[in-house]
Amino acid sequence: MRLRFAPSPTGALHIGGARTALFNWLLARHSGGQLVLRIEDTDKERSTKENVEQILEALRWLELDWDEGPIFQSERAPRHEQVLEALLDAGHAYRSSATADDVKVYKQRHGADCGFRGEQEKEGAVRLRVPDEGATVVHDVIRGDTRFEHVHLDDPVIARADGSVLYNFAVAIDDLDAGITHVVRGEDHLSNTPKQLLVLGAARALGLGEGAQEPVYAHLPLLHGPDGKKLSKRHGAASVQELRDAGYLAEAVRNYIALLGWGAGDDATVLSTEELIKRFTLERVSRNPARFDETKLRWLNGLYIRTMNASELTARVQAYLALTDARAAQLAGADPALTQRAVEISQEKIATLAEFWPLAGFVFGERLLKPAAAERWLGVEGIEALRGVRAALAELAEFDQVAIASTLEGLVEQRAVKPREIYQPLRVALTGTTISPGIFESVALLGPEETLRRIDAALNHCAPAADTGVES
Ligand code: GLU
Repeated sequence: MRLRFAPSPTGALHIGGARTALFNWLLARHSGGQLVLRIEDTDKERSTKENVEQILEALRWLELDWDEGPIFQSERAPRHEQVLEALLDAGHAYRSSATADDVKVYKQRHGADCGFRGEQEKEGAVRLRVPDEGATVVHDVIRGDTRFEHVHLDDPVIARADGSVLYNFAVAIDDLDAGITHVVRGEDHLSNTPKQLLVLGAARALGLGEGAQEPVYAHLPLLHGPDGKKLSKRHGAASVQELRDAGYLAEAVRNYIALLGWGAGDDATVLSTEELIKRFTLERVSRNPARFDETKLRWLNGLYIRTMNASELTARVQAYLALTDARAAQLAGADPALTQRAVEISQEKIATLAEFWPLAGFVFGERLLKPAAAERWLGVEGIEALRGVRAALAELAEFDQVAIASTLEGLVEQRAVKPREIYQPLRVALTGTTISPGIFESVALLGPEETLRRIDAALNHCAPAADTGVES
């Protein structure tokens, strides 16, 4: 199989494009074939260098590699012109100055479903001659056959009067020259396919493509959001970069995107990339719209995070923070063992890499108390509880998780209060917020000096009035 991914670099790589890339890649790797990357950059205004780089970067992040390319479509202009000339010379194409209005008048005269045929002229745009007889049949693996009777098809314009070729022409010639055997792309391209097949037919009549077969086509189903409407920005992260920045893992994204329109057949949802490669076939792609639901991706991502080994997850967290969070400089200078331990105690609680720092960043440096958290948990009773905690922890000979747990649980029992009446004031004192990994683990990780220091700071900050006996 020779496949291609052919993005137009007019913006970021979106979920739909990523799915097209992934399906092509999976087929290439499943079949031991090749994937060709072609950048369709003929729209000069919108095809910027930055957009090209963005797409390449998104593919690299997704770890989807390619075997040939990137081929830049714009650089193939001389080849396109050459084939165009040959088609003109052989009479498979002709110049015509007919405008859209002329086509309309033609149809009024000959019937609305009669394909337009122009007069050959010296100048004008180039139209391909559609054969008078027969039909072009699009064989689509997912959608079955669609037959287009030639009598109904207009002679399509394949180049402007200045000789620059149009999109459907360039795609067909590029696919032919690259020996593409399978064209897998979004459903929005379905209506282009008969035109591309006609171009291919004419090119083959010239002897191009050395007896190559027509490519097999597969048009992937539309993507909807959870509300059943066409996928767009308002459904959440829309581009691959946004998914990366939101803290998703590339392997979880691959897994989830593979399921947008494809199923393994046994309801399996957690599939490693190796399994995807092994099991992926076009026959199992559905023709019904698929739903992108970020909550499912989050769930899957959390599952990948929980099952990853801690040192690998630590490396991912570090790479993620280095990329997205300026504060993570604190982390870069930290003891690697401390970082790994912070990751370990967070692993059960985070669904994305982005959630690590808000949860566990307190380990790497003190944080300001969040006013709402202090107000709720460091009032008179909270301060009282915190004083008790301080006294008990200061006594501990062994400052490990087991000892800390039994001390704090002992306090809860002794005071006959709900656990959170003890744990929340402590949590706020240590982290500035009401969320953290498990409190026993967090205390153990901070160690005795830092724990007592932060408790004292919170006591000083919140209870100076109590210290002086002044009532407010
Ligand atoms: N360049 C087109 C796009 O980005 C894809 C063309 C194709 O796959 O044939 O939508």
